[in-house]
Amino acid sequence: MAKTPSSRSGAPKLDPRGRKVKILATVGPASRSPEMLARLFKAGVDAFRVNMSHGEHADHADTIKAIRDLEKRFMRPIAILADLQGPKLRVGKFKDGEAVIRHSGHFTLDRDPTPGDETRVQLPHPELFGLLEKGQRLLINDGKIRLKVISADENAIKCSAEVGGVISDRKGVNVPDAEIPIPALTEKDRKDLAFAIQQGVDWIGLSFVQRPEDLAEARKLMGGRGSLCAKIEKPMAVRRLDEIIEMSDGIMVARGDLGVELEPQEVPPLQKRIVNATRLKGKPVIVATQMLESMIESPAPTRAEVSDVANAVYDGADCVMLSAETAAGDWPEEAVTIMHRIARQVEGDESYLDRVRFLDTPPDATTADALAHACMTVADTVSISAITVFTGSGSTARRVARERPSVPMLVLTPSMKTARRLGLLWGAHAVATKDIGSFEEMIAKGKRMALRHGFGQAGSKLIALAGVPFGTPGSTNLMHVVNVSGDELEKHGG
Ligand code: PEP
Repeated sequence: MAKTPSSRSGAPKLDPRGRKVKILATVGPASRSPEMLARLFKAGVDAFRVNMSHGEHADHADTIKAIRDLEKRFMRPIAILADLQGPKLRVGKFKDGEAVIRHSGHFTLDRDPTPGDETRVQLPHPELFGLLEKGQRLLINDGKIRLKVISADENAIKCSAEVGGVISDRKGVNVPDAEIPIPALTEKDRKDLAFAIQQGVDWIGLSFVQRPEDLAEARKLMGGRGSLCAKIEKPMAVRRLDEIIEMSDGIMVARGDLGVELEPQEVPPLQKRIVNATRLKGKPVIVATQMLESMIESPAPTRAEVSDVANAVYDGADCVMLSAETAAGDWPEEAVTIMHRIARQVEGDESYLDRVRFLDTPPDATTADALAHACMTVADTVSISAITVFTGSGSTARRVARERPSVPMLVLTPSMKTARRLGLLWGAHAVATKDIGSFEEMIAKGKRMALRHGFGQAGSKLIALAGVPFGTPGSTNLMHVVNVSGDELEKHGG
Protein backbone atom coordinates (compact mmCIF):
# COMPACT_ATOMS: atom_id res chain seq x y z
CA MET A 1 0.00 0.00 0.00
CA ALA A 2 1.38 3.39 -0.97
CA LYS A 3 2.19 5.66 1.92
CA THR A 4 2.48 9.39 1.65
CA PRO A 5 4.32 11.39 4.28
CA SER A 6 1.64 13.24 6.20
CA SER A 7 -1.80 14.81 5.97
CA ARG A 8 -2.73 18.38 6.86
CA SER A 9 -3.53 17.23 10.43
CA GLY A 10 0.03 15.94 10.82
CA ALA A 11 -1.14 12.30 10.91
CA PRO A 12 0.80 9.87 8.71
CA LYS A 13 -1.40 9.47 5.65
CA LEU A 14 -2.68 6.09 4.51
CA ASP A 15 -4.32 5.88 1.11
CA PRO A 16 -7.83 4.40 0.98
CA ARG A 17 -7.67 0.60 0.93
CA GLY A 18 -8.76 0.42 -2.70
CA ARG A 19 -11.12 -2.46 -1.97
CA LYS A 20 -14.60 -2.78 -0.57
CA VAL A 21 -14.36 -6.02 1.39
CA LYS A 22 -12.95 -5.54 4.89
CA ILE A 23 -10.21 -7.46 6.68
CA LEU A 24 -10.70 -8.52 10.32
CA ALA A 25 -7.54 -9.81 12.03
CA THR A 26 -7.38 -11.69 15.32
CA VAL A 27 -4.89 -10.35 17.86
CA GLY A 28 -2.77 -12.76 19.88
CA PRO A 29 0.79 -13.32 21.07
CA ALA A 30 2.14 -12.92 17.52
CA SER A 31 0.52 -9.54 17.00
CA ARG A 32 -0.30 -7.79 20.24
CA SER A 33 2.76 -5.52 20.39
CA PRO A 34 1.98 -1.93 19.36
CA GLU A 35 4.61 -2.22 16.60
CA MET A 36 3.04 -5.32 15.06
CA LEU A 37 -0.49 -3.91 15.38
CA ALA A 38 0.70 -0.86 13.43
CA ARG A 39 2.30 -3.05 10.76
CA LEU A 40 -0.88 -5.11 10.38
CA PHE A 41 -2.99 -1.97 10.17
CA LYS A 42 -0.75 -0.46 7.51
CA ALA A 43 -0.80 -3.75 5.60
CA GLY A 44 -4.60 -3.58 5.37
CA VAL A 45 -6.43 -4.51 8.58
CA ASP A 46 -9.74 -2.63 9.01
CA ALA A 47 -10.87 -4.26 12.24
CA PHE A 48 -9.19 -6.23 15.02
CA ARG A 49 -10.66 -9.21 16.89
CA VAL A 50 -9.79 -9.66 20.54
CA ASN A 51 -10.39 -13.31 21.39
CA MET A 52 -11.65 -13.59 24.98
CA SER A 53 -11.05 -17.38 24.94
CA HIS A 54 -7.37 -16.68 25.51
CA GLY A 55 -5.34 -14.22 27.57
CA GLU A 56 -5.99 -12.00 30.57
CA HIS A 57 -8.02 -8.80 30.82
CA ALA A 58 -4.81 -6.82 31.41
CA ASP A 59 -3.40 -8.04 28.05
CA HIS A 60 -6.65 -7.24 26.26
CA ALA A 61 -6.74 -3.76 27.82
CA ASP A 62 -3.19 -3.14 26.51
CA THR A 63 -4.22 -4.35 23.05
CA ILE A 64 -7.30 -2.13 22.97
CA LYS A 65 -5.27 0.89 24.10
CA ALA A 66 -2.64 0.21 21.42
CA ILE A 67 -5.38 0.03 18.74
CA ARG A 68 -6.93 3.29 19.94
CA ASP A 69 -3.47 4.91 19.85
CA LEU A 70 -3.09 3.69 16.29
CA GLU A 71 -6.44 5.17 15.43
CA LYS A 72 -5.34 8.57 16.74
CA ARG A 73 -1.99 8.35 15.00
CA PHE A 74 -3.50 7.58 11.59
CA MET A 75 -6.74 9.52 12.15
CA ARG A 76 -8.73 6.55 10.90
CA PRO A 77 -11.46 4.77 12.91
CA ILE A 78 -10.73 1.10 13.60
CA ALA A 79 -13.36 -1.43 14.67
CA ILE A 80 -12.65 -3.73 17.62
CA LEU A 81 -14.63 -6.95 18.01
CA ALA A 82 -14.42 -8.73 21.38
CA ASP A 83 -15.22 -12.37 20.75
CA LEU A 84 -16.70 -14.10 23.81
CA GLN A 85 -15.75 -17.72 24.43
CA GLY A 86 -19.33 -18.87 24.93
CA PRO A 87 -20.38 -22.17 26.47
CA LYS A 88 -17.55 -24.21 24.98
CA LEU A 89 -17.78 -27.72 26.42
CA ARG A 90 -14.53 -29.25 27.62
CA VAL A 91 -13.39 -32.52 29.22
CA GLY A 92 -11.59 -32.46 32.61
CA LYS A 93 -7.94 -33.29 33.27
CA PHE A 94 -5.81 -36.43 32.89
CA LYS A 95 -3.32 -38.09 35.29
CA ASP A 96 -0.48 -37.59 32.82
CA GLY A 97 -1.92 -34.55 31.09
CA GLU A 98 -3.07 -36.79 28.24
CA ALA A 99 -4.17 -40.32 27.32
CA VAL A 100 -4.70 -42.38 24.17
CA ILE A 101 -8.22 -43.52 23.24
CA ARG A 102 -7.98 -46.71 21.17
CA HIS A 103 -9.77 -46.93 17.81
CA SER A 104 -12.96 -49.02 18.31
CA GLY A 105 -12.26 -49.07 22.06
CA HIS A 106 -14.61 -47.89 24.80
CA PHE A 107 -14.35 -44.56 26.60
CA THR A 108 -16.53 -43.09 29.35
CA LEU A 109 -17.28 -39.49 30.26
CA ASP A 110 -18.45 -39.17 33.86
CA ARG A 111 -18.94 -36.78 36.79
CA ASP A 112 -15.92 -37.93 38.79
CA PRO A 113 -13.32 -35.12 39.09
CA THR A 114 -10.48 -37.63 39.64
CA PRO A 115 -7.93 -37.17 36.79
CA GLY A 116 -8.73 -39.36 33.79
CA ASP A 117 -6.89 -42.14 31.90
CA GLU A 118 -7.33 -44.15 28.68
CA THR A 119 -10.73 -45.49 29.87
CA ARG A 120 -12.48 -42.40 31.27
CA VAL A 121 -12.44 -38.68 32.08
CA GLN A 122 -14.64 -36.16 33.84
CA LEU A 123 -17.11 -34.14 31.76
CA PRO A 124 -17.73 -31.10 34.00
CA HIS A 125 -21.07 -30.18 32.37
CA PRO A 126 -24.00 -31.65 34.37
CA GLU A 127 -26.47 -30.50 31.64
CA LEU A 128 -25.23 -33.27 29.33
CA PHE A 129 -25.99 -36.18 31.65
CA GLY A 130 -29.44 -37.58 31.14
CA LEU A 131 -29.70 -35.57 27.89
CA LEU A 132 -27.63 -37.59 25.45
CA GLU A 133 -29.04 -40.68 23.82
CA LYS A 134 -27.67 -43.84 22.27
CA GLY A 135 -26.26 -43.24 18.78
CA GLN A 136 -25.51 -39.52 19.28
CA ARG A 137 -22.00 -38.21 18.58
CA LEU A 138 -19.42 -36.55 20.80
CA LEU A 139 -16.55 -34.92 18.90
CA ILE A 140 -13.38 -34.10 20.78
CA ASN A 141 -10.44 -31.84 19.90
CA ASP A 142 -11.99 -30.22 16.80
CA GLY A 143 -13.48 -33.52 15.70
CA LYS A 144 -10.17 -35.39 15.65
CA ILE A 145 -11.64 -37.95 18.09
CA ARG A 146 -15.16 -39.23 17.29
CA LEU A 147 -17.17 -41.02 19.96
CA LYS A 148 -20.64 -42.56 19.63
CA VAL A 149 -22.88 -42.95 22.69
CA ILE A 150 -23.58 -46.60 23.62
CA SER A 151 -25.53 -45.79 26.78
CA ALA A 152 -26.04 -42.73 28.96
CA ASP A 153 -27.53 -42.09 32.39
CA GLU A 154 -27.32 -39.44 35.11
CA ASN A 155 -23.71 -40.33 35.99
CA ALA A 156 -21.91 -41.67 32.94
CA ILE A 157 -21.93 -41.46 29.15
CA LYS A 158 -20.42 -44.67 27.75
CA CYS A 159 -19.09 -44.43 24.22
CA SER A 160 -17.38 -46.41 21.54
CA ALA A 161 -14.53 -44.69 19.71
CA GLU A 162 -15.25 -44.54 15.98
CA VAL A 163 -11.97 -42.67 15.69
CA GLY A 164 -9.53 -42.69 18.60
CA GLY A 165 -6.43 -40.65 19.26
CA VAL A 166 -4.60 -38.61 21.85
CA ILE A 167 -6.85 -36.70 24.23
CA SER A 168 -5.39 -34.16 26.64
CA ASP A 169 -6.45 -31.83 29.47
CA ARG A 170 -9.46 -29.54 28.86
CA LYS A 171 -9.90 -30.48 25.18
CA GLY A 172 -13.08 -29.11 23.55
CA VAL A 173 -16.17 -31.29 23.06
CA ASN A 174 -18.80 -30.74 20.35
CA VAL A 175 -22.25 -32.32 20.65
CA PRO A 176 -23.83 -31.75 17.23
CA ASP A 177 -26.91 -33.95 17.63
CA ALA A 178 -28.55 -32.33 20.67
CA GLU A 179 -29.84 -28.90 21.64
CA ILE A 180 -28.05 -28.26 24.91
CA PRO A 181 -30.06 -26.46 27.59
CA ILE A 182 -27.34 -23.97 28.48
CA PRO A 183 -27.47 -20.20 28.12
CA ALA A 184 -25.24 -18.58 25.49
CA LEU A 185 -23.45 -16.56 28.18
CA THR A 186 -21.38 -18.27 30.88
CA GLU A 187 -20.24 -16.54 34.07
CA LYS A 188 -16.89 -15.88 32.34
CA ASP A 189 -18.69 -14.42 29.31
CA ARG A 190 -20.65 -12.02 31.53
CA LYS A 191 -17.42 -10.77 33.12
CA ASP A 192 -15.69 -10.54 29.73
CA LEU A 193 -18.66 -8.71 28.24
CA ALA A 194 -18.71 -6.16 31.07
CA PHE A 195 -14.96 -5.67 30.66
CA ALA A 196 -15.15 -5.30 26.86
CA ILE A 197 -18.00 -2.81 27.02
CA GLN A 198 -16.21 -0.81 29.71
CA GLN A 199 -13.16 -0.76 27.39
CA GLY A 200 -15.34 0.71 24.65
CA VAL A 201 -15.11 -2.09 22.08
CA ASP A 202 -17.39 -1.67 19.06
CA TRP A 203 -18.64 -5.21 18.45
CA ILE A 204 -19.31 -8.19 20.68
CA GLY A 205 -19.10 -11.66 19.10
CA LEU A 206 -21.41 -14.22 20.69
CA SER A 207 -20.24 -17.84 20.35
CA PHE A 208 -22.29 -21.04 20.07
CA VAL A 209 -25.58 -19.25 19.57
CA GLN A 210 -28.32 -21.89 19.33
CA ARG A 211 -31.52 -19.83 19.36
CA PRO A 212 -32.57 -16.21 18.72
CA GLU A 213 -33.34 -15.86 22.44
CA ASP A 214 -29.63 -16.42 23.15
CA LEU A 215 -28.95 -12.89 21.90
CA ALA A 216 -31.38 -11.22 24.27
CA GLU A 217 -29.28 -11.39 27.44
CA ALA A 218 -26.12 -10.09 25.74
CA ARG A 219 -28.14 -7.29 24.17
CA LYS A 220 -29.54 -6.33 27.57
CA LEU A 221 -26.11 -6.33 29.24
CA MET A 222 -24.68 -4.24 26.38
CA GLY A 223 -27.32 -1.56 26.85
CA GLY A 224 -26.81 -0.14 23.36
CA ARG A 225 -23.05 0.30 23.90
CA GLY A 226 -21.88 -1.79 20.95
CA SER A 227 -23.10 -3.93 18.09
CA LEU A 228 -23.79 -7.63 18.41
CA CYS A 229 -22.42 -10.28 16.04
CA ALA A 230 -23.87 -13.79 16.26
CA LYS A 231 -21.40 -16.53 15.38
CA ILE A 232 -23.08 -19.29 13.40
CA GLU A 233 -21.29 -22.47 14.43
CA LYS A 234 -24.09 -24.82 15.56
CA PRO A 235 -26.51 -26.76 13.33
CA MET A 236 -29.26 -25.60 15.71
CA ALA A 237 -28.51 -21.97 14.79
CA VAL A 238 -28.74 -22.76 11.10
CA ARG A 239 -32.29 -24.03 11.61
CA ARG A 240 -33.35 -20.61 12.93
CA LEU A 241 -30.98 -18.50 10.83
CA ASP A 242 -33.39 -15.79 9.71
CA GLU A 243 -34.61 -15.11 13.25
CA ILE A 244 -31.01 -14.96 14.51
CA ILE A 245 -30.04 -12.51 11.76
CA GLU A 246 -33.06 -10.40 12.68
CA MET A 247 -31.87 -10.23 16.32
CA SER A 248 -28.21 -9.43 15.43
CA ASP A 249 -26.32 -6.46 14.01
CA GLY A 250 -23.97 -8.73 12.07
CA ILE A 251 -23.17 -12.40 11.50
CA MET A 252 -19.99 -14.48 11.48
CA VAL A 253 -19.78 -17.71 9.51
CA ALA A 254 -17.62 -19.47 12.14
CA ARG A 255 -16.44 -22.27 9.90
CA GLY A 256 -14.12 -23.82 12.52
CA ASP A 257 -16.77 -25.20 14.83
CA LEU A 258 -19.37 -25.38 12.06
CA GLY A 259 -17.03 -27.75 10.19
CA VAL A 260 -16.75 -29.92 13.29
CA GLU A 261 -20.47 -30.07 14.04
CA LEU A 262 -21.42 -30.69 10.41
CA GLU A 263 -19.85 -32.79 7.70
CA PRO A 264 -17.14 -30.68 5.98
CA GLN A 265 -18.91 -30.76 2.61
CA GLU A 266 -21.98 -29.20 4.22
CA VAL A 267 -20.09 -26.00 5.10
CA PRO A 268 -19.55 -24.35 1.65
CA PRO A 269 -23.24 -24.30 0.63
CA LEU A 270 -24.13 -23.16 4.12
CA GLN A 271 -21.53 -20.38 3.95
CA LYS A 272 -23.20 -19.09 0.79
CA ARG A 273 -26.65 -19.37 2.34
CA ILE A 274 -25.61 -17.44 5.46
CA VAL A 275 -23.79 -14.74 3.44
CA ASN A 276 -26.84 -14.25 1.19
CA ALA A 277 -29.39 -14.22 4.01
CA THR A 278 -27.36 -11.65 5.98
CA ARG A 279 -26.68 -9.46 2.94
CA LEU A 280 -30.38 -9.44 2.16
CA LYS A 281 -31.02 -7.89 5.59
CA GLY A 282 -28.35 -5.23 4.98
CA LYS A 283 -26.15 -6.41 7.87
CA PRO A 284 -22.42 -7.13 7.68
CA VAL A 285 -21.37 -10.78 7.33
CA ILE A 286 -17.89 -12.10 8.15
CA VAL A 287 -16.40 -15.28 6.65
CA ALA A 288 -14.03 -16.73 9.24
CA THR A 289 -11.48 -19.41 10.01
CA GLN A 290 -8.72 -21.24 8.17
CA MET A 291 -8.78 -18.73 5.30
CA LEU A 292 -4.98 -18.73 5.00
CA GLU A 293 -4.31 -21.48 7.55
CA SER A 294 -1.01 -22.67 6.05
CA MET A 295 0.38 -19.16 6.57
CA ILE A 296 0.56 -19.89 10.29
CA GLU A 297 3.84 -21.57 9.37
CA SER A 298 4.54 -20.64 5.78
CA PRO A 299 5.17 -17.23 4.16
CA ALA A 300 3.01 -18.23 1.16
CA PRO A 301 -0.56 -19.56 1.05
CA THR A 302 -1.76 -22.65 -0.81
CA ARG A 303 -3.62 -22.20 -4.10
CA ALA A 304 -6.76 -23.56 -2.43
CA GLU A 305 -6.58 -20.96 0.34
CA VAL A 306 -6.23 -18.15 -2.19
CA SER A 307 -9.32 -19.48 -3.96
CA ASP A 308 -11.21 -19.69 -0.67
CA VAL A 309 -10.56 -16.00 0.11
CA ALA A 310 -11.28 -15.00 -3.50
CA ASN A 311 -14.59 -16.88 -3.50
CA ALA A 312 -15.73 -15.24 -0.27
CA VAL A 313 -15.01 -11.86 -1.92
CA TYR A 314 -16.87 -12.88 -5.11
CA ASP A 315 -19.79 -13.98 -2.89
CA GLY A 316 -20.00 -10.40 -1.62
CA ALA A 317 -19.10 -11.07 2.03
CA ASP A 318 -18.55 -7.83 3.92
CA CYS A 319 -15.50 -9.06 5.71
CA VAL A 320 -12.90 -11.83 5.62
CA MET A 321 -11.18 -12.88 8.83
CA LEU A 322 -7.75 -14.09 9.86
CA SER A 323 -7.55 -16.18 13.05
CA ALA A 324 -4.40 -18.03 14.12
CA GLU A 325 -2.61 -16.62 11.05
CA THR A 326 -2.34 -13.24 12.80
CA ALA A 327 -2.90 -14.34 16.42
CA ALA A 328 -0.21 -16.98 16.71
CA GLY A 329 1.41 -17.47 13.30
CA ASP A 330 4.94 -16.81 12.11
CA TRP A 331 3.82 -14.55 9.21
CA PRO A 332 1.05 -12.24 10.44
CA GLU A 333 1.95 -9.24 8.28
CA GLU A 334 2.39 -11.39 5.18
CA ALA A 335 -1.03 -13.00 5.78
CA VAL A 336 -2.72 -9.57 5.85
CA THR A 337 -0.78 -8.44 2.77
CA ILE A 338 -1.80 -11.54 0.80
CA MET A 339 -5.45 -11.19 1.85
CA HIS A 340 -5.41 -7.52 0.82
CA ARG A 341 -3.90 -8.40 -2.57
CA ILE A 342 -6.39 -11.20 -3.22
CA ALA A 343 -9.29 -8.86 -2.43
CA ARG A 344 -7.94 -6.10 -4.70
CA GLN A 345 -7.34 -8.55 -7.54
CA VAL A 346 -10.87 -9.98 -7.30
CA GLU A 347 -12.52 -6.58 -7.02
CA GLY A 348 -10.56 -5.43 -10.08
CA ASP A 349 -11.87 -8.35 -12.13
CA GLU A 350 -14.39 -7.17 -14.72
CA SER A 351 -16.83 -9.91 -13.72
CA TYR A 352 -16.71 -8.99 -10.02
CA LEU A 353 -19.71 -6.66 -9.82
CA ASP A 354 -21.95 -9.01 -11.77
CA ARG A 355 -20.95 -11.87 -9.54
CA VAL A 356 -21.53 -9.88 -6.34
CA ARG A 357 -24.85 -8.65 -7.63
CA PHE A 358 -26.13 -12.12 -8.47
CA LEU A 359 -28.07 -11.69 -5.24
CA ASP A 360 -31.26 -9.78 -5.84
CA THR A 361 -31.65 -7.23 -3.03
CA PRO A 362 -34.94 -5.47 -3.82
CA PRO A 363 -35.26 -2.18 -1.91
CA ASP A 364 -37.74 -2.05 0.94
CA ALA A 365 -40.60 0.40 0.35
CA THR A 366 -38.83 3.26 2.15
CA THR A 367 -37.41 6.56 0.90
CA ALA A 368 -33.97 5.59 2.25
CA ASP A 369 -33.93 2.34 0.28
CA ALA A 370 -35.27 3.98 -2.88
CA LEU A 371 -32.42 6.52 -2.70
CA ALA A 372 -29.82 3.83 -1.85
CA HIS A 373 -30.96 1.98 -4.95
CA ALA A 374 -30.82 5.21 -6.98
CA CYS A 375 -27.22 5.81 -5.81
CA MET A 376 -26.28 2.42 -7.23
CA THR A 377 -28.01 3.17 -10.56
CA VAL A 378 -26.51 6.67 -10.90
CA ALA A 379 -23.01 5.36 -10.13
CA ASP A 380 -23.49 2.68 -12.82
CA THR A 381 -24.64 5.26 -15.37
CA VAL A 382 -22.44 8.32 -14.80
CA SER A 383 -18.76 8.35 -13.90
CA ILE A 384 -18.84 8.89 -10.14
CA SER A 385 -15.81 8.73 -7.84
CA ALA A 386 -17.63 8.08 -4.52
CA ILE A 387 -20.94 8.23 -2.69
CA THR A 388 -20.64 10.57 0.30
CA VAL A 389 -23.12 9.37 2.90
CA PHE A 390 -24.05 11.66 5.79
CA THR A 391 -25.32 9.51 8.64
CA GLY A 392 -25.65 9.50 12.41
CA SER A 393 -26.36 5.84 13.17
CA GLY A 394 -24.79 4.30 10.05
CA SER A 395 -28.13 2.92 8.90
CA THR A 396 -28.07 4.80 5.55
CA ALA A 397 -24.57 3.47 4.87
CA ARG A 398 -25.78 -0.10 5.51
CA ARG A 399 -28.68 0.32 3.11
CA VAL A 400 -26.37 1.71 0.38
CA ALA A 401 -23.81 -1.08 0.97
CA ARG A 402 -26.65 -3.61 0.61
CA GLU A 403 -26.96 -2.48 -3.03
CA ARG A 404 -23.24 -3.24 -3.61
CA PRO A 405 -22.62 -0.04 -5.64
CA SER A 406 -19.70 0.12 -8.07
CA VAL A 407 -17.98 2.97 -6.22
CA PRO A 408 -16.82 3.34 -2.60
CA MET A 409 -18.82 5.10 0.10
CA LEU A 410 -17.21 7.94 2.02
CA VAL A 411 -19.29 7.89 5.19
CA LEU A 412 -19.29 11.15 7.14
CA THR A 413 -20.67 10.91 10.64
CA PRO A 414 -20.52 13.04 13.78
CA SER A 415 -20.37 9.81 15.83
CA MET A 416 -16.98 8.16 16.38
CA LYS A 417 -18.87 5.06 17.59
CA THR A 418 -20.69 4.80 14.27
CA ALA A 419 -17.48 5.39 12.31
CA ARG A 420 -15.78 2.55 14.19
CA ARG A 421 -18.67 0.10 13.89
CA LEU A 422 -18.67 0.59 10.11
CA GLY A 423 -15.23 -1.03 10.06
CA LEU A 424 -16.96 -4.33 9.22
CA LEU A 425 -19.22 -2.95 6.47
CA TRP A 426 -18.54 -3.58 2.77
CA GLY A 427 -17.44 -0.50 0.84
CA ALA A 428 -17.60 1.98 3.73
CA HIS A 429 -14.69 4.33 4.44
CA ALA A 430 -15.88 6.15 7.55
CA VAL A 431 -14.69 9.51 8.83
CA ALA A 432 -15.80 11.04 12.13
CA THR A 433 -16.34 14.74 11.49
CA LYS A 434 -18.46 17.66 12.72
CA ASP A 435 -22.14 17.54 11.80
CA ILE A 436 -23.53 19.64 8.97
CA GLY A 437 -26.36 22.13 9.33
CA SER A 438 -27.27 23.17 5.79
CA PHE A 439 -27.38 22.01 2.19
CA GLU A 440 -24.44 24.29 1.25
CA GLU A 441 -22.37 22.92 4.12
CA MET A 442 -23.15 19.37 3.01
CA ILE A 443 -21.94 20.01 -0.53
CA ALA A 444 -18.81 21.86 0.59
CA LYS A 445 -17.94 19.24 3.18
CA GLY A 446 -18.57 16.34 0.82
CA LYS A 447 -16.17 17.80 -1.76
CA ARG A 448 -13.55 18.75 0.81
CA MET A 449 -13.57 15.36 2.49
CA ALA A 450 -13.53 13.47 -0.81
CA LEU A 451 -10.42 15.37 -1.85
CA ARG A 452 -8.75 15.05 1.53
CA HIS A 453 -9.35 11.30 1.82
CA GLY A 454 -8.50 10.40 -1.75
CA PHE A 455 -12.04 9.81 -3.10
CA GLY A 456 -12.06 12.44 -5.82
CA GLN A 457 -10.09 15.04 -7.72
CA ALA A 458 -10.80 18.14 -9.81
CA GLY A 459 -13.38 17.16 -12.41
CA SER A 460 -14.79 14.23 -10.40
CA LYS A 461 -18.47 13.80 -9.66
CA LEU A 462 -19.73 12.69 -6.27
CA ILE A 463 -23.11 11.60 -5.02
CA ALA A 464 -24.15 13.20 -1.73
CA LEU A 465 -26.80 11.34 0.29
CA ALA A 466 -28.29 12.84 3.44
CA GLY A 467 -31.47 13.52 5.40
CA VAL A 468 -33.19 16.86 5.87
CA PRO A 469 -33.68 18.22 8.49
CA PHE A 470 -29.98 17.47 9.02
CA GLY A 471 -29.21 15.46 12.14
CA THR A 472 -32.67 13.83 12.25
CA PRO A 473 -32.43 10.02 12.50
CA GLY A 474 -34.25 8.12 9.76
CA SER A 475 -34.75 11.18 7.55
CA THR A 476 -32.71 10.12 4.46
CA ASN A 477 -34.46 11.99 1.66
CA LEU A 478 -31.86 13.94 -0.27
CA MET A 479 -29.58 12.83 -3.08
CA HIS A 480 -27.48 15.24 -5.06
CA VAL A 481 -24.84 14.84 -7.77
CA VAL A 482 -21.93 17.18 -7.06
CA ASN A 483 -19.16 18.34 -9.41
CA VAL A 484 -15.76 18.78 -7.81
CA SER A 485 -14.06 21.83 -9.34
CA GLY A 486 -10.43 22.94 -9.23
CA ASP A 487 -11.35 25.54 -6.58
CA GLU A 488 -11.91 22.93 -3.87
CA LEU A 489 -8.38 21.69 -4.46
CA GLU A 490 -7.16 24.99 -3.02
CA LYS A 491 -9.46 24.69 -0.07
CA HIS A 492 -9.51 21.01 0.70
CA GLY A 493 -7.21 21.37 3.62
CA GLY A 494 -9.86 23.51 5.36
C1 PEP B 1 -14.86 -20.66 14.50
O1 PEP B 1 -15.19 -21.69 15.12
O2 PEP B 1 -14.77 -20.61 13.27
C2 PEP B 1 -14.61 -19.43 15.25
C3 PEP B 1 -14.41 -18.28 14.67
O3 PEP B 1 -14.64 -19.53 16.61
P1 PEP B 1 -13.38 -19.53 17.60
O4 PEP B 1 -12.17 -19.15 16.79
O5 PEP B 1 -13.73 -18.52 18.63
O6 PEP B 1 -13.33 -20.90 18.13
